[in-house]
Amino acid sequence: MNSLKRTTASEYKENLLQRLESGFVQCIDLLSVKEYNEETDKEGFHVIPSAGDGVIGRYYSLKDMEIDTPNIIVRKSVYSKLCAADRALKRKRGYENCQIIVTYGYRRPEIQKEFYDATYEKKRNENPLLSEEKLREAVHREIAFPEVAGHPTGGAVDVILFDYKNGKFLDFGTEICQFDSKNIYYGANDISDKARRNRRTLRTIMCQQGFAPYDGEWWHFCYGDREWAYYTYRRKYRQGVKIEKKALYRQKKYEEISEIAYNDKVKKSKSSIVEQSCVRLAIQKDGRLTEETLSILKKSGIVITRGKREILVKSDNFPLEILFVRDDDISNLVDKGVADIGVVGENVYRENFVRGKNRSLIKRYLGFGNCFLALAVPNDSNIEHLQDLNGKSIATSFPRLTRRFLENEHIKADIINITGSVEVAPVINYADAIVDLVSTGSSLQQNNLHVLFHILDSQSILIANCHSDKDMEKKHIIEQLLQRIDSYLIAKKYKYVNMIIPQSQVSKIVEIINGIGRVDDLDDYDESIENNLDKNVSIDMRVPVVYPMYGYKEWCSLQTIMKQSDLWNKMDELKENGAINIVFYSIEGIIDETLR
Ligand code: AMP
Repeated sequence: MNSLKRTTASEYKENLLQRLESGFVQCIDLLSVKEYNEETDKEGFHVIPSAGDGVIGRYYSLKDMEIDTPNIIVRKSVYSKLCAADRALKRKRGYENCQIIVTYGYRRPEIQKEFYDATYEKKRNENPLLSEEKLREAVHREIAFPEVAGHPTGGAVDVILFDYKNGKFLDFGTEICQFDSKNIYYGANDISDKARRNRRTLRTIMCQQGFAPYDGEWWHFCYGDREWAYYTYRRKYRQGVKIEKKALYRQKKYEEISEIAYNDKVKKSKSSIVEQSCVRLAIQKDGRLTEETLSILKKSGIVITRGKREILVKSDNFPLEILFVRDDDISNLVDKGVADIGVVGENVYRENFVRGKNRSLIKRYLGFGNCFLALAVPNDSNIEHLQDLNGKSIATSFPRLTRRFLENEHIKADIINITGSVEVAPVINYADAIVDLVSTGSSLQQNNLHVLFHILDSQSILIANCHSDKDMEKKHIIEQLLQRIDSYLIAKKYKYVNMIIPQSQVSKIVEIINGIGRVDDLDDYDESIENNLDKNVSIDMRVPVVYPMYGYKEWCSLQTIMKQSDLWNKMDELKENGAINIVFYSIEGIIDETLR
């Protein structure tokens, strides 16, 4: 019988964790690093931007510095190293749409001490028999001993990776700063392969820039502080090179860096309504337009992480703030400048429009939420022509549009303003007719009504406040947003098409595709290109590009973009002229003003 006791899984895990702990850099090691380089310590601090798709700073779980430094502050070199690490991250396969979020940087030394003392007290109560030195090391593993701590130097950072396309933090096996789990140790093995890979990637990109990792917290990295100096010294020592244990940065009192923090705070408070160059977009809170509006924003690369009941949410990667409100309020809010821009049904915008007083304008038709404002009457009604409406009553939630319509048609009828379930009004004999929105017509049918007149077509639109549209900074952001939306809207209309065509049919097929630009032979083609260059004419993306095919002299490959409906309409003709292997793909985005 085997007398050796088998190690249980939990024992194995505990052993591993203890082994990991014994490898962590100790407080005593850091106390041996004493000298500071006066020259390098002169380096200033940098405020990490809080939006964009590069490195951004956002407090996450530790928010104790938020009042003193509303944006996260680090040493200038640390910031530029973070930017380089972020660029390296985007070059890694699978991380192309990811960014580094710094969740903590500079910390006031007093706060460091407060934290340390509190953790010390807690640990002492838990382990009253522990020696002073052991206790200090145990506390140091969670929160650095104040004298050697890196955060007060502005050299240490807590970082995490964020996928701005999906709007999700990457999986690291634990939450950042989840101190109740030992799985926060870099080498912990009780995490998924994906989390392990993410930890490795984060460590690689940071260490390549010269940051030192801390094995006790997968998110903590430092540069220039005592821990970094000790780590660098130990690494070099192992390579047989002896260097001084010398830190680059000294800890800074808040007063020493308060100028930069103060300037940042002033900047923040000056723009407290709309944070520095941030545009506020009002959208429908919960209704027909909400899903598609959010989808357009998402497909335009704008990430919004919204809690269930939040009504004002800042985009994670674009200077945009989303205000979730009732559809009926959007047009007024934009008109008053409470929101700079809004996505709303055209019907709502026209209903609120007062000539000469309106302060908002339509910037884009978005092509969804299509419906029309109809005048409808009961199927058994004796109202057959518009003139029969004279003296009758009309129920609607669009009193202004209805009044304007009746005035234009010289009809005198009573308007009954009701807010919901308008189509029931004739059924309960509350009105003779209604003016309401119709899209499929099923609601009219259910209530035995039919359309007598089509008053106004409507779809969702993007509107902007006139003043916001003139403010240089906001205008720039609005234009950037519109460019992204356009790129999505255009791309939605077109397909990218690839086909193989006979050499002999090139000009015929080009003609079928867009009816322009006959290509009779190569000389003509060259000339037409040169003419275009002379006149500085931009090349229409719909003009097919034709390539010869290596090894198939008789055939060419043709690429172009086409509207999907066009492609189906022309399919037979293309095939009749010899086109084969026709492939078409959806397009993510198109940047081309001429196609708008
Ligand atoms: P709702 O979510 O019902 O408040 O509708 C919001 C917007 O969707 C309206 O203001 C219209 O612009 C648009 N819409 C599209 N189809 C309809 C429809 N059948 N009835 C009401 N609104 C519609």
